[in-house]
Amino acid sequence: MRIVVLAGGIGGARFLRGLKSAVPDADITVIGNTGDDIHLFGLKVCPDLDTVMYTLGGGINEDQGWGRLDESFTVKEELAAYGVGPTWFGLGDRDFATHIVRTQMLGAGYPLSAVTEALCDRWQPGVRLLPMTDDRVETHVAITDADTGERRVIHFQEYWVRLRASVDAEAVVPVGAEQAKPGPGVLEALAAADVILFPPSNPVVSVGTILAVPGIRDAVAAAQAPVVGLSPIVGGAPVRGMADKVLAAVGVESTASAVALHYGTALLDGWLVDTADADAVAQVEAAGISCRAVPLMMSDLAATAAMARAALDLAEASR
Ligand code: GDP
Ligand code: CA
Repeated sequence: MRIVVLAGGIGGARFLRGLKSAVPDADITVIGNTGDDIHLFGLKVCPDLDTVMYTLGGGINEDQGWGRLDESFTVKEELAAYGVGPTWFGLGDRDFATHIVRTQMLGAGYPLSAVTEALCDRWQPGVRLLPMTDDRVETHVAITDADTGERRVIHFQEYWVRLRASVDAEAVVPVGAEQAKPGPGVLEALAAADVILFPPSNPVVSVGTILAVPGIRDAVAAAQAPVVGLSPIVGGAPVRGMADKVLAAVGVESTASAVALHYGTALLDGWLVDTADADAVAQVEAAGISCRAVPLMMSDLAATAAMARAALDLAEASR
């Protein structure tokens, strides 16, 4: 079974771990979000690709959900001693090595897809991890500065990590997406897939950014395979993080049904909501998307594998 998953960081990575456990023999291709990428200290950092790679490769800091296990922060402290920031982005010493290797390879002329493959040689994530594009895309967020009252556009990481989404996102723009081309293998994987899954990743800045690369949305819509998504919104709020802020920016309510309708019937054949949102099932089905309510909390591997099985069952039923 060839499964293609459009993944962001933590929500995508944890789901993928459950999927691998549910169907160990499946051929899994992950199309990873690169809109969160940022240049720091002269290095190219790809937070979502790394979260997937570290989580599936056994190198993740489990409690945090991002960054390396057994991490130290000497380099960051030394940079701060020189007055060189930003201090708000937590790059640890082990993590730095990944970004150094990546930046060195990019500097030597390798595309991000080839670099990611090389990094995965070490981590052996057990999936094929493809950046959505080899071109530069950076998600920016328009805000009104709380101190000056001025409208500013900032990098998504500054909005998410430094400001913790404490002000409203007035617009979310994947800068460069319109000119970007899907990465090598992305469209082919979608066309050849038996099942396409949207994990409970952020619908705007993770899955939404991947779909914003011209050609990818159409390839998902045109794919022979059923497309099934899992709601990152449970009981009217994101399970973790501030997805409600970026959903508001695109005019979507933070409910399991609103997110399904936002993706729409052009993309989705099926949608899973949490049992807490069982009320949403009728509304989603009325819109023409098959819907089931099952537990959607990725509390441990068994629970996450059960979610993956429910998604595959729904895909089978809507084939
Ligand atoms: P990020 O790039 O690290 O922000 O991660 P993703 O975009 O892949 O996933 C973020 C989303 O995962 C958030 O909107 C959360 O609500 C969602 N999420 C995290 N844990 C869970 C969980 O256990 N269950 C569900 N349903 N969603 C979750
Ligand atoms: Ca992310």
